Amino acid sequence: MLSAWSLVRALRKAHAYRGAKPVDEGLRGYRAYEPPLRPRAFLDLTMWDVVYRVCPTRRDLWLRRREGVQLEPSDAMRRGAAIHRAFHETSRAVARAILSGVDPWDAYEAGARLCSRMCREDPYVRRVCRGFSFLWSSIALELGSPVAVTEMVVDGSPLGMSRYLRVDALFEGSVVVELKYGGFRRDYAVAVAGYAMALESFLEIPIDFGLVITVNGDGSSVRVYPIYIDDALRQEFIELRDEAIDTLLSDVEPPRPPSCPPTCPFRRACLGA
Ligand code: SF4
Repeated sequence: MLSAWSLVRALRKAHAYRGAKPVDEGLRGYRAYEPPLRPRAFLDLTMWDVVYRVCPTRRDLWLRRREGVQLEPSDAMRRGAAIHRAFHETSRAVARAILSGVDPWDAYEAGARLCSRMCREDPYVRRVCRGFSFLWSSIALELGSPVAVTEMVVDGSPLGMSRYLRVDALFEGSVVVELKYGGFRRDYAVAVAGYAMALESFLEIPIDFGLVITVNGDGSSVRVYPIYIDDALRQEFIELRDEAIDTLLSDVEPPRPPSCPPTCPFRRACLGA
């Protein structure tokens, strides 16, 4: 069960790395006005454009941004969107209940009732939704108040990113949270670095830690991965951003790769399949 304690325990692990590998100040988002952070072009990139590539040649990025092709969401993408909505809405419901004076367990009930209404169609998402309600109320119980901002909008334009980047959550203590459906992947940690650098440029404070929260296929397991946002993750994000900019500025259409992932949401547009 996801709880305030499981998040604190995860963060302790990330803290252990900071002393050994401090972040290079030149890779902080508030240094976006100089290389290597200063982008070659300002193209309003989303995190999808930069990090969550589905096509090995970046043809997906080209199709979406240069040709205006709409992706066709898969079932997994739809369920991921429902899980994000549950995360955000339960956070608001529990915060509202706490601020109106009820105790955290009654606030949990308020969140759980919302889940029953909102996720009527999908029992898996409903179970995850109740887990989020428990998370928010347990954080409030431990710390005395709701402490997370969910779906925070951040201006990423100094880094060449969108002015409306949406961070899944920012916990007190400046911890960036990325929520994902499925197993852990390294690009989730790179996205956390990208959001942290955008926040650094926006808030002008250092951000060193993040959490990736993954929800597995049937909603039965929620795991937390601590992320120390070190130089390697920051550089990886900058390289991917530069590659995305180069792809979009080039007049050469990226070729099809030798094989396409079966889950690519551009298969119909690209392969007619
Ligand atoms: S269908 Fe294949 S070539 Fe087209 S975007 Fe997807 S992976 Fe790339």
